[in-house]
Amino acid sequence: MSVEANINSILKELKGTKLICVTKTVDPERINEAIRAGATIIGENRIQEFEDKCDYLLPCKKHFIGHLQTNKTKKVVELFDLIQSVDSLKLAHEIDQKAREAGKVLDVYVQINIGSEPQKYGFGLDEIKQTIKKVQTLENIQVTGLMCIPPYVSPEEARLYFRKMKTLFDELQQENAGNINIQELSMGMSGDYQVAIEEGATMVRIGSAIFGDRGY
Ligand SMILES: *Cc1c(COP(=O)(O)O)cnc(C)c1O
Repeated sequence: MSVEANINSILKELKGTKLICVTKTVDPERINEAIRAGATIIGENRIQEFEDKCDYLLPCKKHFIGHLQTNKTKKVVELFDLIQSVDSLKLAHEIDQKAREAGKVLDVYVQINIGSEPQKYGFGLDEIKQTIKKVQTLENIQVTGLMCIPPYVSPEEARLYFRKMKTLFDELQQENAGNINIQELSMGMSGDYQVAIEEGATMVRIGSAIFGDRGY
């Protein structure tokens, strides 16, 4: 199947859910095929690779979706429209500072380690509300969503993690007041996005179902 055909069939399935077209390892020509077919937001997690490609891309929104080391923050703030993977307060402060220097207010999502996996990045459920309140006191960064990468399990087992995320998302939306304004719930990838949508994702991140296997 061509990139265009894959995008078309996925967009049809998603109905209103937003698509992040994940383009790591994919060359600019094929990314542009996806953009021409209707993808409006791309997701990347490799800074150097993205920097090499970004000048060749058709207009689109760019989301950073990988773990970000604080010393790379300046570059990411310059190159991307949104950072989905804020996983520490230290990083939030660093983004705030770099965004201020760049004269921007950057939208970010906070990443939740929903399976409490020791090897994964992200905040615990117990600390997330406090964390969002702290981040919202910073002037050049604004939390507008939640993101997770659940444990590597079957889609049906992932459903439970998606459900926990949705519960948190609903609670935060009810608390939406003052400067808290959580709008997006980013969860679900090629293997489990249908389940994520059933459980309330507003945004899915899909790579291999569009471009084929990445070969690693
Ligand atoms: C690579 C990646 C995806 C997409 O994975 P696929 O299984 O290829 O759809 C989604 N989210 C993040 C954070 C990724 O790094």
